[in-house]
Amino acid sequence: MLSPELPLRLPENHPTMGDRIDVSLACEVCGSRNYRTTRKPTQQGQLKMKKHCPKCKAHTMHTETK
Ligand SMILES: [Zn+2]
Repeated sequence: MLSPELPLRLPENHPTMGDRIDVSLACEVCGSRNYRTTRKPTQQGQLKMKKHCPKCKAHTMHTETK
């Protein structure tokens, strides 16, 4: 059980959150969510980058997913 002194929700101005949002990067080939990253919500389009996928054992395109 969590300590009752701890707040249940992070304050909205939590310093580590800033104006960034959490996203996962999923392999386009097998769909595995291999990476976590953050991005600015104002950024246009989906994040896309070539990353190593441990399931495919190759470098594949990874796209942002929620
Ligand atoms: Zn893969």
